[in-house]
Amino acid sequence: MRELEWTSSSDTPARTRLAIVGRGRLGTALAGALSQAGYDVSGPMGRGADGRGADAVLLCVPDAEIAPAASHVAPGPLLGHCSGATGLGELTPHEGFSLHPLMTVTAEGAEFAGAGAAIAGTTPRALAFAAELAEALGMQAVEVAEPDRGAYHAAASIASNFLVTLEAAAGRVAAAAGVQREQLVPLVRATVDNWARLGPERALTGPVARGDEVTIVRQRAAVEDVAPDLTPLFDELVSATRAFAAARDPSGTDTRATGARDGYAGDGSAGDRPRPGGPAGMNVIGTVAELRAELLEPRRAGRRIGLVPTMGAFHEGHLSLMRRARRDCDVVVVSLFVNPAQFNDAGDLDAYPRDPDHDAALAAGVGVDYLFAPSVDEVYPSGFATEVSVAGVTEPLEGAHRGRAHFDGVTTIVTKLFNMVGPDVAYFGQKDAQQAAVIRRLVRDLDIPVAIEVCPTVREADGLAMSSRNMHLSPADRVRATALHRALRAAQDAVSAGERDPGAARERALAELTAVSIEPEYVELVSADTLAPVDRIAGDVLAVLAAVVGGTRLIDNQPIQPNGGTGRP
Ligand code: AMP
Repeated sequence: MRELEWTSSSDTPARTRLAIVGRGRLGTALAGALSQAGYDVSGPMGRGADGRGADAVLLCVPDAEIAPAASHVAPGPLLGHCSGATGLGELTPHEGFSLHPLMTVTAEGAEFAGAGAAIAGTTPRALAFAAELAEALGMQAVEVAEPDRGAYHAAASIASNFLVTLEAAAGRVAAAAGVQREQLVPLVRATVDNWARLGPERALTGPVARGDEVTIVRQRAAVEDVAPDLTPLFDELVSATRAFAAARDPSGTDTRATGARDGYAGDGSAGDRPRPGGPAGMNVIGTVAELRAELLEPRRAGRRIGLVPTMGAFHEGHLSLMRRARRDCDVVVVSLFVNPAQFNDAGDLDAYPRDPDHDAALAAGVGVDYLFAPSVDEVYPSGFATEVSVAGVTEPLEGAHRGRAHFDGVTTIVTKLFNMVGPDVAYFGQKDAQQAAVIRRLVRDLDIPVAIEVCPTVREADGLAMSSRNMHLSPADRVRATALHRALRAAQDAVSAGERDPGAARERALAELTAVSIEPEYVELVSADTLAPVDRIAGDVLAVLAAVVGGTRLIDNQPIQPNGGTGRP
């Protein structure tokens, strides 16, 4: 039996008379629970009740109605409310208290026992009464000071109400994929359970936690497709999760310990591969193990596998390689990896354009089967100590201006990609002519069983070779940059007109560049095979050049045909 413990002691203990005002879910649930706990409960009663005859009155009404309801209560009893956000000032002039159960109350009631409760009181006696009510309900009471109420209540909303909003969003997106809300329930339960048992750091799994940006991009594209109004929410959650993942203690990053099988935990098992399906059925893969597992069957079945190595920021040049691979091969793999090892300048690496969102959509659009986008750690795990270096074709031109390390970076990553994918054929662009020559030499010298296909340079309408770097050009430099193509054409025109002296043809090219104040790094007529300068224009000759235009380094080349052809492949 509940006695008047909070009043002066009396000879004959009497049950505390408690009036509950407010007939909503909370009033009803608290009336039942407190009655069971031994209080002499009247109510729940309507909002105009004056609480006469009660030792304490508890207002279970919406925040806006606390003050009006309080004004009806006769002087005398303690007066409390159940709001988390509203202060005790609304209860003036009564001796006031508050008791806010940190528990959801639905039409089915509430399980108060074991839950937290925020309490406050305008006097020690009122505070003690709030604590007594909490204890009677089996709740863990914590006193929340007036200035902290806002934060406390916001935390409660984020933890419960917003979680429901998130699950509703997940349910909508799942429904679009034909997955029932009920099928998400075990995942949500396991996640909440992990969060409770292990803490947030260790409970966090999934693509954001493991830095799998390309999968995030694919997910975002799918959300935009099936529930565009949820895209801003998705973006905010990704960036908040990213910040949380980056800030957490490294000891908390073990995603395997959680037991959460959300299908994206990144432990390499079949269940956490990016799923096939989505807008165009392309599969995005982040690890070598997954890639090998995917390609095992096609390889056994003797299907032709094509690889297009790229560094992303796709344009028509990249897409032309992918289309060609699609046409020639049964399985098309595109690798997307901005290879730090081939950049000789950290600033250049940082500034390299990245647009994985667009890239995934474009690759899917041309029918690529697998977009292989490994992390830097996946490609160069700690302790990595091997380099593949090709001599003979790497020294001049790009090798001389970017340094040999550039090509060492290229040949190392391409060798690794060949070993990871095991392609029958790999596609490269004529745009990077020296690179193509270096790769040919690499596979020949190391007996790598892959055919190398070099595809024509794709150009803008005004002749500028497409390049991921073109986006860095200002409008004025974009116009100046067309001189690179004019310079190559001038060399071809000279040769077509009978010129066989490479020096003279070079001068014609140079004139086009100097006309727009472009000082090239090099302009040369070289052997297409060895990249060495030629004495005389005969056989397979390449006009090659590199220039920095407004801070952006551009390269271009053109096969030169002595017989008067356009030189265009
Ligand atoms: P990147 O992403 O710049 O490493 O290029 C990936 C592949 O696309 C390389 O084999 C390039 O030579 C090729 N590529 C780049 N630009 C073009 C272009 N304009 N036309 C044809 N191929 C290109």
